[in-house]
Amino acid sequence: MHATLCAVRDHPHVNPFDFRGRLQRAGAALLVAGADALLISHLPNLRYLSGLEATAGSGLLTGDGRLFLLVDPRYEAAAAARAEEVGPDLVHPVATADVSASTWLASRCASDGIGRVALESRVLTLHAARLIEQALAAVGWSGALIDQPLDIVEHARRVKDAVELALLREGGARLSEAARGILADGVARVGRTELEVAADIDARVRAVGFSRAAFDTIVASGPRSAFPHARPTDRRLEAGEVVVLDFGGVYGGYCVDLTRTVCLGLPSAEVDRQYHAVRLAQQAGIAAVRPGTTPADVDRAARQVLEAAGLGETFGHGTGHGLGLEVHEAPRLARPRPEDAAQPPLEAGVVCTIEPGAYVTGRAGIRIEDDVVVTAYGHEQITDVPLGWPTAH
Ligand code: ZN
Ligand code: ZN
Repeated sequence: MHATLCAVRDHPHVNPFDFRGRLQRAGAALLVAGADALLISHLPNLRYLSGLEATAGSGLLTGDGRLFLLVDPRYEAAAAARAEEVGPDLVHPVATADVSASTWLASRCASDGIGRVALESRVLTLHAARLIEQALAAVGWSGALIDQPLDIVEHARRVKDAVELALLREGGARLSEAARGILADGVARVGRTELEVAADIDARVRAVGFSRAAFDTIVASGPRSAFPHARPTDRRLEAGEVVVLDFGGVYGGYCVDLTRTVCLGLPSAEVDRQYHAVRLAQQAGIAAVRPGTTPADVDRAARQVLEAAGLGETFGHGTGHGLGLEVHEAPRLARPRPEDAAQPPLEAGVVCTIEPGAYVTGRAGIRIEDDVVVTAYGHEQITDVPLGWPTAH
């Protein structure tokens, strides 16, 4: 096994990531984008920059690549440990038990002459933004609060470094191992409830070494399979029906995600045709993944196959999403929305899912999902699970 993976697994306190480089690149990008500081409210961004794993807290990143970690008493010791490891000149723990984050931020902006503060407006609540505005007004600050320019941290997180790729490859291999067992052992079988199947899947995901599920496992049977994100229920699986199984795990902090659709018996000709169209769409999507291709191009490649099969209307979601510290992160491989800025082309190191589906309301839904890494010349699939109709049980 890769030495880094051993270090992560056996010594959870050892953090192999290049936090200094991440902080300095993010600080430089901030200055280029015309901001003096960025208030980080999105916890995965805070973790990416500092290694701090917390359920609450924020950070102020300054243009010189320093990060002030604003944490409540629960995370003071952890923040201090991060400063010790990353470098006390780069990471500064600030206890928000003594002073509120917004008051501290205001006094810092005033004392350091910080004029333009970017906010992560997609995650910062309106309430928190108003507290910050009030605190800044109270110290007579004359700067400007601006929308986070160019999603600096999310943009940096798109391209994984060698350590992150090693973790994602290992995660892909382990999730595939779990999936092969789930299919071979007939975990989804007639008479079991969706909830029982989901519990079995979750246990198997943990058994292959994941710290937790990456999201709530989806088990959607019969007509419920036509709901792309159905929650498992106490519905019992019946002979002849289709079941969508979508599950993922977190390995070393990084998320992998996989879907297979099984049929409990012989599929009807219509469902068989639907399955093969999705399978071909997924192959077309995977084949389109290479540096220089845009996320929208990949979506189009998969979507066109379903449209040609007359199933375009049944494919309502995007073809895939980025994987990393979050199970859904940039890039978004989907039809562009008018409100979205154009996404940059794929580049080596991006990791994403390819998961087209076809959902015929009241009948059956099919989805097939695998994970791929964009490489220098094309792509590498990091999940490996048989793709034909899994054996019926
Ligand atoms: Zn999934
Ligand atoms: Zn997914």
